[in-house]
Amino acid sequence: MSHKKEQYSEMFKQYCKGANSVRIFAEFLFKNILPAVEEAIYNRTNLQIINIMKCKNPAFNGNKCNLENHILRYLADQEQFKLYTEYIDNPKLYFKNFIGEHVETFCKDHKKLQDMLHGNLAEIKACISHTSTEVSEEVNLKNGNASMWLNHFCKKLGDHMVINRQSLTSIQDEEISDTKFLKEMMAKYLEEVVKSKNMKSMKSVDASSQHLCLLKQKITEILFKQLEGCWAQCPFCKATCTNTICNHKGDHSVQFHRSSAIGHSYYHKTDEFTNDFCTTNVSSNGSFIILACKKRFPYKSYRRGGDPYDKWSITADGSTQGYWKWFVCRFQKEWEDRCGYKFKGKGVIPDSWRKITKESVLEELNIRD
Ligand SMILES: [Zn+2]
Ligand SMILES: [Zn+2]
Repeated sequence: MSHKKEQYSEMFKQYCKGANSVRIFAEFLFKNILPAVEEAIYNRTNLQIINIMKCKNPAFNGNKCNLENHILRYLADQEQFKLYTEYIDNPKLYFKNFIGEHVETFCKDHKKLQDMLHGNLAEIKACISHTSTEVSEEVNLKNGNASMWLNHFCKKLGDHMVINRQSLTSIQDEEISDTKFLKEMMAKYLEEVVKSKNMKSMKSVDASSQHLCLLKQKITEILFKQLEGCWAQCPFCKATCTNTICNHKGDHSVQFHRSSAIGHSYYHKTDEFTNDFCTTNVSSNGSFIILACKKRFPYKSYRRGGDPYDKWSITADGSTQGYWKWFVCRFQKEWEDRCGYKFKGKGVIPDSWRKITKESVLEELNIRD
């Protein structure tokens, strides 16, 4: 073999070694970043959907108080006793389900979802392609190696997806100086990622898709987290604390208390509901009994009842909201049957309450659409 031929053969071997190295590098890289790519696409889609829902539905475009008013309006519109009991018994769960149902409705438009996922997949694909070209140029200029390439790549993509650089150490010594071939390989594997099984499921959303189920769950969770607050309920009337922070400092409080009949309060040794509002009770000369310890406490110093009474600030301003007066009149029979007490005797419903209309209580909620 002539000297020249030997030289060529050596060059060819080197070339093959380099090409193989690039192939290994690109293949391993994409296999590893596939879950991150997928997650990035879903995260983007989640946020897009949340933004659209907030823009379109004012119930989700404010705080917990605002959402609660929308829920109260919905309940009054539906006028179904069962829904009211679900809300009164477990407001936290009711809020979550209310959000979940709206997410469900939004996600019924599979075509729209598909378009969003598809659009985000295209954007992420362009972003990876652009980043890999940019990084290759930089590393070339600095005469860098695969390790440098990976450092830059992970850092630059970091704004769009979370890639674990540690998981890529096994390819950081590969020979990737043939940047033209690297570019071709990156494009090839990027296309393979797009065609992979997981990504295909993004392009064809159907009702039974596990991805769709997870997407809905995630959106509901994010929205709920954004909109929740303190869930403590008034020990007398079960109204939910209006503080927008979970585990907040200071006392629980609520703008509008309800009739204490909603909290199942009744006059001792009778079957009569107590029908006054907490804000009236705490300025009265009445008292209440805590059954667990069989002790009586004056309403005026309700905090002496200990936990949870001493965690609440109930102002004796006598303020009431027509909403719960209307509710008591509308569902008197149902509430009596449910609790086993009656609106009679000292707990009789005042005539003035009967004049309150649904329209007026809805107006009182002061919802701006
Ligand atoms: Zn109360
Ligand atoms: Zn609270």
